Amino acid sequence: MHCPKCAIDLNDDVPRCPQCGFTIDDLDPVLGPPPERAGLVTDLAGVLTEAGRERLTGRLREFAERTGDEFLVVTRETTEPRLPSEYVFWLFDRWRVGGEGHTGLLVLLAMKERRIEVEVGFALEHFVTDAAACEILQGHAVPFLKKGAFDDGLFHSVNVLALVVEDGRRQEQEAEKEGKA
Ligand SMILES: [Zn+2]
Repeated sequence: MHCPKCAIDLNDDVPRCPQCGFTIDDLDPVLGPPPERAGLVTDLAGVLTEAGRERLTGRLREFAERTGDEFLVVTRETTEPRLPSEYVFWLFDRWRVGGEGHTGLLVLLAMKERRIEVEVGFALEHFVTDAAACEILQGHAVPFLKKGAFDDGLFHSVNVLALVVEDGRRQEQEAEKEGKA
């Protein structure tokens, strides 16, 4: 995300702005305690059908098995009083998505703001940058979300993001094998 004070680009590796000293802790007083995680999909806004949640959870579980990385989805009625892009950055940190190594992704759907956002852990950014991930959401989530098809919008965009990272991990493993041979 961008620093809310000076707009410099912040990385989840260093949740403190090198320019103005803003830290992610500054968001705690306004955002309060983070919501409780409900497994891989935390549907706080209640927009997914039971079948949709199961299909999405299954894909996220598959991703974890293939890569060893963590991919979570959260929906919220609103992220007020902050922007969805700030909220997802903050929640990624507070939930420690991907653990110490930041090998994780978090997709956020904010209903009132009509925004879908993604935070990609810095350890996965060489597979998919935040910018590339946002483009995937634009192409594979937004057309469905506009029609109110939340199950499909989340599933298809998450699936494409997962495929990109899975492919990157596979190539990495192959390169490692070749290096050893
Ligand atoms: Zn700053």
